[in-house]
Amino acid sequence: MHELSIIANLFEILEEKAAEKEAKRVLSVKLQVGLLSGVVPDLLKTAFDIYKKETIAAEAELEIVEVPFKVKCNVCGAEMVKDDLFVVCDACKSTDLKTLQGTDLFLLKMDVEV
Ligand SMILES: [Zn+2]
Repeated sequence: MHELSIIANLFEILEEKAAEKEAKRVLSVKLQVGLLSGVVPDLLKTAFDIYKKETIAAEAELEIVEVPFKVKCNVCGAEMVKDDLFVVCDACKSTDLKTLQGTDLFLLKMDVEV
């Protein structure tokens, strides 16, 4: 399961950050997940709940913010929301598009108790 390895990586980051802040507990974690990242938010939550036991984040809540896949046209500058990677510009039909968001996943915020 792809989500489990993501969560394993996430916990490495959490423990590192918690150690930096000399935190006793992680209270909540907020992740941004792009809708085209290939990650299923529900599976991510399940993986988080399995993994968090006996860690510094045992009681932490995982909040997931889903962001749509958004591109910008390099030709006419139009920005648009799409649901797959093979897209053309709505305005000028160019395929020269730049991804703005929605294909990755990152840690937005974490609350800790020190
Ligand atoms: Zn365009």
